[in-house]
Amino acid sequence: MSRFETRRDKLRRTVKRRGAEALLVTDVANVTYLTGFTGDSTYLLLRRDGETLISDGRYTTQLGEECPGVDLEIRASNVNMCNSTSGVVRRAKVRNLAIEADSMTVGFREQLAEKLPGVEFMNTSGLLVEQRSCKDRDEIQRIRKAVRCAEKAFATVCAALAPSKTEKDLADELDSAMRRLGAQCASFPPIVAAGPRSALPHASATKQPIGENGFLLIDWGARDDLYVSDLTRLVIRGKLSAKLRRVYSVVLEAQTKAIEAIRPGVAVKDLDAIARGVITDAGFGRRFTHGLGHGIGLEVHENPRLSVLSDAVLRPGMVVTVEPGIYLPGWGGVRLEDDVLVTRNGHEVLSGAAKQLDEVMVG
Ligand code: ZN
Ligand code: ZN
Repeated sequence: MSRFETRRDKLRRTVKRRGAEALLVTDVANVTYLTGFTGDSTYLLLRRDGETLISDGRYTTQLGEECPGVDLEIRASNVNMCNSTSGVVRRAKVRNLAIEADSMTVGFREQLAEKLPGVEFMNTSGLLVEQRSCKDRDEIQRIRKAVRCAEKAFATVCAALAPSKTEKDLADELDSAMRRLGAQCASFPPIVAAGPRSALPHASATKQPIGENGFLLIDWGARDDLYVSDLTRLVIRGKLSAKLRRVYSVVLEAQTKAIEAIRPGVAVKDLDAIARGVITDAGFGRRFTHGLGHGIGLEVHENPRLSVLSDAVLRPGMVVTVEPGIYLPGWGGVRLEDDVLVTRNGHEVLSGAAKQLDEVMVG
């Protein structure tokens, strides 16, 4: 049985427990997770006795190659997605259809319901969250590869820093270095923020030259074989100020303590509290303005979210980022981010880029 069949069978049992006859999967990452299909504009109807991919003629060949054994419904160019989907549901004689409320638009739901009188719709949310948050061996391998690729690219770009280069130059260099190293693309547009701009947690790279001195916050990742990495490092150039030394040390301690606590059974909100405690004790509590981290996988932001808002508990196979930060408007921000696998007895930090203060000083 392929890993996709295993995943679909597991989901089938979940859908059955919820009392639905079938699930219409509309979330593009969920379709990829369940079938291996890497394109878009394609839905999956998962029935108790099989499944059908609903797509269009652009993807016929690709679907045949990537999803052997899955029934295909390829719509003609004069049939829209709603008609094609409703036809498949009707022919399968489904009377009780679960839908993904987090991805299907209200408009599509209304159109589909109009075409399917007598079919009861059941809104579901996060049916695949549990399943997708714990990675199998193959997924972990792919994430490792994405981490390695991102780190190699980072080393290349750091070795060629020059004062005349802009934030955007560095972001573009990272992007192209990751592609050259085999990645499909960057997992998101790299953040390269010099000095005060690093106080914006999600700064976009500007055309400002980075200059001779000061520090750079770089947040980047690669997408390799569909899976992503997500890392953040600070690069310090020139003289180290007392303030930067202090802020950096606090963030590093917060991150180190949180990572040390990672093992199965730990509540994610407790992890967030450990890092937040260190930062708050140092007097910067109000300057850590986001959650501690998030799961990564097919998407950059997956469950579990490492946040006080989540009741999730760590389980083996989860891969999460740990990324505390301190942001001081007008001065700058410091964030460190690593990708960590929850193992059966503890954890393994997948990323290895140097981060001790003396290691991130260049020049
Ligand atoms: Zn990041
Ligand atoms: Zn992140």
